[in-house]
Amino acid sequence: MKQVFLLLAIVLGVSDAVVAQESVTLLKPEQVFDGEQTHAGWVVLVKGNFILYAGDADDAPATDVDRSIDLPGQTLLPGLIEGHSHILLHPYDETVWNDQVLKESIAERVTRAVNHVRNSLMAGVTTMRDLGSEGAGYADVGVRDSINKGIIPGPRLLVAGKALVATGSYGPKGFHEGVDVPLGAETADGYDDLVRVVRSQIGRNIDFVKVYADYRWGPDGGASPTFTQRELETIVEVTRSSGRPVVAHASTAEAMRRAILAGVETIEHGDGATADVYKLMVKHNVALCPTLAAGDAIAQYSGWNKGVDPEPPRLQNKRRSFKAALDAGVTICFGGDVGVYPHGDNVRELEMMVDYGMPAEDVLRSATSINAGLFHIADKVGRIRTGLLADIIAVEGDPGRDISDLRNVRLVMKDGVVYRQ
Ligand SMILES: [Zn+2]
Repeated sequence: MKQVFLLLAIVLGVSDAVVAQESVTLLKPEQVFDGEQTHAGWVVLVKGNFILYAGDADDAPATDVDRSIDLPGQTLLPGLIEGHSHILLHPYDETVWNDQVLKESIAERVTRAVNHVRNSLMAGVTTMRDLGSEGAGYADVGVRDSINKGIIPGPRLLVAGKALVATGSYGPKGFHEGVDVPLGAETADGYDDLVRVVRSQIGRNIDFVKVYADYRWGPDGGASPTFTQRELETIVEVTRSSGRPVVAHASTAEAMRRAILAGVETIEHGDGATADVYKLMVKHNVALCPTLAAGDAIAQYSGWNKGVDPEPPRLQNKRRSFKAALDAGVTICFGGDVGVYPHGDNVRELEMMVDYGMPAEDVLRSATSINAGLFHIADKVGRIRTGLLADIIAVEGDPGRDISDLRNVRLVMKDGVVYRQ
């Protein structure tokens, strides 16, 4: 049968990739973390680009196997789902954010992004939610589509495009009033303007809208709310009616409160949350993407010698506020703001989640099944389960016990295709 299909494929000019999709791979790890819990003695059968079977080796269906991959001492798990990346940014200690936005050409930024998405995939990240192009227009949409077309390797991307900011709030800043600089996001204000701009972003086929509900424009230079309650509600109403969600950057308790009540689905950062705000998040089913690793990286870029100097007050506060979110029962999204630190070093956030008080197995859930649910893709990825897409990684060791074992990636499979072995 296979030969007939191959012959037919040659005659019809169908690519090898299509033929390969019929093949069956048997994966034999030490154990499987299925997105919920860890099972010893499981095997996984992949047929084409989906999972045919995951369970006890003894109960596996009888089928011809084209290749068998032994993964001794390794844990097989769903490909990681990064919840907060910026593929069009690179670490700020290489080039400060202002200069990336103002001086790097779109071509340079896209070229860098090609490297960033490849590094992410090779690190075991098979899906990424990207939180805004930061001045690179809709380049993220183009990179997403290029990956989907098979032009470059990379994770499945969910992208925000330009993102929304209130006039006057966003950067680059620090120029006198005669200088017009391009911004890292798109401004819109008031009902009519917001409706028009949100629709124009949706029309570029973004996956969700990102709004900056606060920014560092307070009287003391600190974070302060930007959009009014009514403006946020407008953004959510217009975005939702197109079948897409809204997510909000918010650090202050007031901006978080407004965004939650307006109907956003995740809050990014959330450093200044109060107990009341966390209660409101639980009540309205809004998740927190804490971006612990970004704060940690920025503190180090400003001279903090981690492991030697005492932890800066800002980070001590973040540690407390993350613990309070856990205690309040807030759903935690894995999202580190990667791009502030190197793409492919996504595990840094997961290690910090453990360091800040989250059990390792909960962290694994957050990075797989929880994020899949939050991003409305649980019917496709996030678990090792029959019928889901074969986005699978294997790592040496047991990351449910030591999260840093996620750094020992031995196998990366996305959509049934092996990218690293
Ligand atoms: Zn970000």
